Amino acid sequence: MLGAIIGDTVGSVYEFHNIKTTHFPLFNPQSNYTDDSIMTMAIAQWLLNDPQHGMETLEAIFLDFAKKYPCPMGGYGGGFSRWLFHPERLDDYDGDGTLQGKRHPYNSFGNGAAMRCSANGWMFDTLEETERVAGLSAAITHSHPEGIKGAQSTTAAIFMARNGKSKDEIRDYISTKYGYNLNRTCNEIRPVYDWDSSCQGTVPEAIVAFMDSTDFESAIRLAVSLGGDSDTLACITGGIAEAFYKKIPNGMALKIWELIPDDFKDILRKMEAQTSYQLPNILK
Ligand SMILES: [Mg+2]
Repeated sequence: MLGAIIGDTVGSVYEFHNIKTTHFPLFNPQSNYTDDSIMTMAIAQWLLNDPQHGMETLEAIFLDFAKKYPCPMGGYGGGFSRWLFHPERLDDYDGDGTLQGKRHPYNSFGNGAAMRCSANGWMFDTLEETERVAGLSAAITHSHPEGIKGAQSTTAAIFMARNGKSKDEIRDYISTKYGYNLNRTCNEIRPVYDWDSSCQGTVPEAIVAFMDSTDFESAIRLAVSLGGDSDTLACITGGIAEAFYKKIPNGMALKIWELIPDDFKDILRKMEAQTSYQLPNILK
């Protein structure tokens, strides 16, 4: 989770000013956490608060966080913003009028489903339950099969990484079960990759950035170097890389700890108390 927040923050200044290199300052005065981190914390809060993982609780928590953080850097995505603040403007995509004017899932496959799900990867003892609840965390808004897949594959990678699986095992499982092409390298993706806010155009690339990395920092740098939706790409990569390497450089951890609000810190500490999640030692 902290790894996802770091990726989001490092990528935040490159989302609309892509760079295609791994050589860049990790933080500058404009770097900040965005909607990715806010909604990551919302889902963590949901998992901690509601053992039944109910949709009504999740909706209430999303709304609480949006009220508290109404204008994050970069804003909320268009569809999700309507879901939060103007549900009457959501497309009645099923066309029969039953959803008109109500807050409802809107068949999105946006990468928002994947960027917010890292807490799911730490919460459960089995891969099956991890994927099931990740699917729920997506389906409340991102009900398109690709949206659900984006959340499930990201959390499956985190679950496997934290449980000591190798990169080859993670790659084989994700590519077989979810059909993503992970037999690419960052050097192959970078020249041809452009802005893409879909799960299917973000999650595989984020996983490849993790696969090509040698440590947490290089994973974040590789993710940002691909271009595209940099904060979300690096957020997804960062959540997986944190679980795999189990070591975030102290400088990055301390910098992000200065930036994030106290309620994020409280949630992270509760995750640490109630799950196997570990904050970096320097923050304890
Ligand atoms: Mg964002």
